[in-house]
Amino acid sequence: MLEIYDILIIGGGVAAASAVLTAKNRGKTVAVVTNGEETSSLYRAESITNYPGLPAMSGKDMTQLFRRQIEENATDVISGRALNVMPMGDSFGVAVGNGFFQCRALILAVGITRENLYPGEGEYLGAGVSYCATCDGMLYRGKTVAVIGSGHEAIEDADFLEGIGCTVLRLRENGKYEIRGETKANRVLFKGEEYPVDGVFIIKDTVSVTRLVPGLEYENGGIVTARDMSTGVPGVFAAGDCTGKPYQLAKAAGEGNVAALSACEYLSKQK
Ligand SMILES: Cc1cc2nc3c(=O)[nH]c(=O)nc-3n(C[C@H](O)[C@H](O)[C@H](O)COP(=O)(O)OP(=O)(O)OC[C@H]3O[C@@H](n4cnc5c(N)ncnc54)[C@H](O)[C@@H]3O)c2cc1C
Repeated sequence: MLEIYDILIIGGGVAAASAVLTAKNRGKTVAVVTNGEETSSLYRAESITNYPGLPAMSGKDMTQLFRRQIEENATDVISGRALNVMPMGDSFGVAVGNGFFQCRALILAVGITRENLYPGEGEYLGAGVSYCATCDGMLYRGKTVAVIGSGHEAIEDADFLEGIGCTVLRLRENGKYEIRGETKANRVLFKGEEYPVDGVFIIKDTVSVTRLVPGLEYENGGIVTARDMSTGVPGVFAAGDCTGKPYQLAKAAGEGNVAALSACEYLSKQK
């Protein structure tokens, strides 16, 4: 039978690490869903000199310390991008690629996310627009698809789609694209030219949080939270850069700790 985790954390930076440690100390089962370490903001920092208790070190080295702590303390670490959270009464379902996981409380520690969608992205999602080549690639075998994205995963997905016989139009993430169609997306507009396609795969490192979790409020560049890091969706908490400025490690760690304590309190009231 599918294990239902007490808490599932989406993200793999300092906010997630802090939340894992606290939730584990409180005796909870914790799953962490995360992208590769190079997608954390911290990974790009040359030198960190303001994190208490640690000597100055590169962002890459510090990211690896947090990752190791997550791996050593989480019940399970699930590699990949969470695509969708489905509220299911007193639990949540989380889709990661082709996988599906369940939890009773959720902590979003996804770092800075962009809410802006390409024109047509929301409208055609599920109708020619997909966030997951592994899930939907076979539907486009032998057809022409656009892959929008610049990271590792976008390159791998474009290679995968070519491997199964698709003709792939590779587009970097930050271009001004518009997705058009009738009942389904069937063309991408770029620099005044229209490119006919059968499908569009958008492979960003993050999924906009309001799309990830229905009903979340987003304001001034962050998820709206109370002081206990609860969001407007019961059972969903948020921590770190995704709640807004200041974008600082110590703030993210503190919020991860508070979010985990609040999630534990929420769970104790559910029983
Ligand atoms: C160049 C640079 C220098 C910096 N220097 C400093 C400094 O000197 N001092 C300081 O205090 N702070 C500094 N910061 C800020 C600091 O790095 C951030 O505040 C901190 O990393 C935020 O941690 P986080 O856990 O909230 O997010 P992140 O570390 O960004 O981690 C979020 C993780 O979640 C993953 N994720 C997102 N969405 C999904 C999804 N749907 N599914 C799976 N995984 C997902 C992301 O890919 C990422 O790996 C710097 C930042 C940058 C960019």
